[in-house]
Amino acid sequence: LPSDPSTGAAVKAADRAHVFHSWSAQGLIDPLPIAGAEGSYFWDYDGNRYLDFSSQLVNTNIGHQHPKVVAAIQEQAGKLCTLAPGFAVDVRSEAARLIAERTPGDLDKIFFTNGGAEAVENAVRMARLHTGRPKVLSTYRSYHGATAAAINLTGDPRRWPSDNASAGVVHFWGPFLYRSPFHAENEAQECERALAHLEQTIAFEGPQSIAAIILETIPGTAGIMTPPPGYLAGVREICDRHGIVFILDEVMAGFGRTGHWFAADHFGVTPDLLTFAKGVNSGYVPLGGVAISAEIAATFDQRPYPGGLTYSGHPLACASAVATINAMAEERIVENAAEIGETVIGPALREIAERHPSVGEVRGLGVFWALDLVRNKETREPLVPYNAAGADNAPMAEFAAACKRGGLWPFVNMNRTHVVPACTITEAEAKEGLAALDAALTVADAHTV
Ligand code: PLP
Repeated sequence: LPSDPSTGAAVKAADRAHVFHSWSAQGLIDPLPIAGAEGSYFWDYDGNRYLDFSSQLVNTNIGHQHPKVVAAIQEQAGKLCTLAPGFAVDVRSEAARLIAERTPGDLDKIFFTNGGAEAVENAVRMARLHTGRPKVLSTYRSYHGATAAAINLTGDPRRWPSDNASAGVVHFWGPFLYRSPFHAENEAQECERALAHLEQTIAFEGPQSIAAIILETIPGTAGIMTPPPGYLAGVREICDRHGIVFILDEVMAGFGRTGHWFAADHFGVTPDLLTFAKGVNSGYVPLGGVAISAEIAATFDQRPYPGGLTYSGHPLACASAVATINAMAEERIVENAAEIGETVIGPALREIAERHPSVGEVRGLGVFWALDLVRNKETREPLVPYNAAGADNAPMAEFAAACKRGGLWPFVNMNRTHVVPACTITEAEAKEGLAALDAALTVADAHTV
């Protein structure tokens, strides 16, 4: 690996002088300067290479610098870089067709955005206009983005400083057997009780006031909790009964991560609106969108849709989506995610969980796995308290540092580490990362009681 520490130092100095970072106390952060990336790896200026088990923010599903996607962006840049959303343009039409072909059911119209939060904003706007109702229900333990409505829908502490930026959001509990809000003892009970709780929430909020229920098909950042069999079908039925729009947020779970094109495919459920971003083009150029059912699209046949973005369906973003989707199909990348999850990652993580006292639960599928780290397997007390900061968060910070020393870039949130590599990861790379993870977990074990 090339090593160029003085350039790294200059990159960092300019960053610290002028870049204002997301979610951070600006005086307390120490961003690592990155020199390059390829496939499942990226590297710094000091000759350190990291196996990316985070896929950045769980978006590089196709890995870093996929040659076909890079070439498509270069080719499009030479042809036509930008065009207002009102025109018809070949790559936008083709991206919409490829996405609509893969989204479930009759979700055949695509509204393009620049990312996930804007997709959620527009899905909520569509639902409110379609129903003429104000409220939207979402779950605790969720993340939907950082714009006004999206952050209020979010069910984690990132919402707190922005609470009430958008009116009409009501939170309820989704199913999560390991930390069951319903004291359930098995998946069937959890499913039944979660649906009864949702029914009751709707009854007390007034069904005629509820425009939409939005769920992450499989909640991602909040902990990769695959819903029990029947839950999503149950929500679908409740929505139908009350005329409520069902929105599935597939920003993180979509485009191969779970081993299907969409997580909804595992459950045979079709929402009315589906939001996507991240994996649609692995974030090579910012892109997101909403896939819209025939019925909701028809609401805006004669009546203008009151929403838009200068860069909606940006040609560079759409060209990269076309190349990404085609490469994923040609190279069996979604199938690889499914196979590696089932044959390598899942079995290895379950075996790791048996040996490490800090691993309370392993859950997931495809390249979408969470390890719930605990102080004690019996009590399931989280390794760090909910929303821990500073000294309270030391066990997780030490664990993350140990991963990095071992050449592994982990995804860490609260008391969990997620194993979310690229869908293109090879068996050898997965094994290399799992070995580094195994070693780093001894640091977490030291904090168990
Ligand atoms: N929805 C989900 C499920 C997400 O995981 C995210 C981002 O992590 C978003 C929405 C927001 O997407 P973006 O950061 O592109 O606005």
